[in-house]
Amino acid sequence: MSFASQSFSPEIVRALTECGYEKLTPIQQQAIPHARRGHDILANAQTGTGKTAAFSLPIIQQICDKPKQRSRFNVRALILAPTRELAAQIAKNIEDYTKYVSINVAAIYGGTKMASQEKKLEQGLDILVATPGRLLEHMELNNVSLANLEFLVFDEADRMLDMGFISDIRLIMNDIRTQPQTMLFSATFSSQMNKLSNEILRKPKRISVSPENATAETVAHVVYPVDDDRKRELLSELIGKKNWQQVLVFVNYKETANELVKELKLDGIKAVLCHGDKAQSARRRALEEFKEGKARVMVATEVAARGLDIQGLPHVVNYDMPFLAEDYVHRIGRTGRAGQQGHAVSFVSREEELTLVQVEKLIRQRIRRIQLAGYEPANRDALLHKMQTKSAFKDRQGRTNNPTDQSDAERRARLRRAVLNKSKITKLKK
Ligand code: AMP
Repeated sequence: MSFASQSFSPEIVRALTECGYEKLTPIQQQAIPHARRGHDILANAQTGTGKTAAFSLPIIQQICDKPKQRSRFNVRALILAPTRELAAQIAKNIEDYTKYVSINVAAIYGGTKMASQEKKLEQGLDILVATPGRLLEHMELNNVSLANLEFLVFDEADRMLDMGFISDIRLIMNDIRTQPQTMLFSATFSSQMNKLSNEILRKPKRISVSPENATAETVAHVVYPVDDDRKRELLSELIGKKNWQQVLVFVNYKETANELVKELKLDGIKAVLCHGDKAQSARRRALEEFKEGKARVMVATEVAARGLDIQGLPHVVNYDMPFLAEDYVHRIGRTGRAGQQGHAVSFVSREEELTLVQVEKLIRQRIRRIQLAGYEPANRDALLHKMQTKSAFKDRQGRTNNPTDQSDAERRARLRRAVLNKSKITKLKK
């Protein structure tokens, strides 16, 4: 199905062609006809499926069909997104789609100056993309008016709830007096999500693309069983031997990310960092370097990398397995996008095998194991031995017959007892 057949104006079709879009993706096929007719939408869709165009193109076309004079601080369409990166990404996509029409768009999010954002808001916007927290700050300062809002989108709504934005969302909703056409996109559904969608959507059209389609068809998944303390070496070896040029590496903790980047640099592999402790400008710079090929590896944590769109990204590595199987699908959504081939590699220690089983269940696919010689995980007996020595060490720490072995807590407890006894004795003496 072509975009021209959806009666988008020639200027929009031309911009889409320049973006390399020829046919609609499945989520676009389902969402666009309903959204063009003004229906509310409740969509179950992963990132990487083309959902940004699915919600933004119908809005863009409707705004083009009914042009209005821009007025100060006024916004016609509001798109809410959980992270700064995703908000910036959506705005960038919309800029690309609106290259040949007269529509203005801006993204506002935390970590950048309020003043420059205020200037953008003051001119009045056709489309505003925002993270909920920063939008509220501007609303409190009367820098933005939602009084005439016509379109409202919640992108990655599940993430917004996970990140605790529900009260911000309610405050924003309180300020909306119109009945905008509302679209909610989410990768997962929970009872809290159902409650929210019941509150904000009117007779929504329900659409869904299954997560398996979003990853499995174009992505080759592989697992390398390996002990935690050998993962770093394995990563350097694979990058070097297989000549991987652009690798997004996911870790669970910021500390792991910091360490890993240092170690990769020591191995002569240029790597950049993307995690929540980094300033917004540093994250943006890292992403640019990674996209432009100046850095071969980007090491990222879940939230920071959420929603990132890196054209043609060939390799994603789960250095740590995610805590939730669903997050595997989100992470892997960064590769194999829009029909391109992708490669999803997971390093799995014995302790992470349970997550792997859950992932396989979720994506309904058994993932191929590759055991690289020299990286075989220690056998179960060795693991057991390691765990036993760990607990033996704990026991040793807990011993009290040698005063130098005492833990701080025990020393403090003894001191407290001694002070108590002393005061009892003084009381008795009195
Ligand atoms: P999204 O799920 O919106 O993040 O989109 C994932 C990727 O697919 C982005 O790189 C989009 O530019 C691309 N994309 C979206 N729609 C199409 C399409 N119809 N044809 C080709 N690529 C697309």
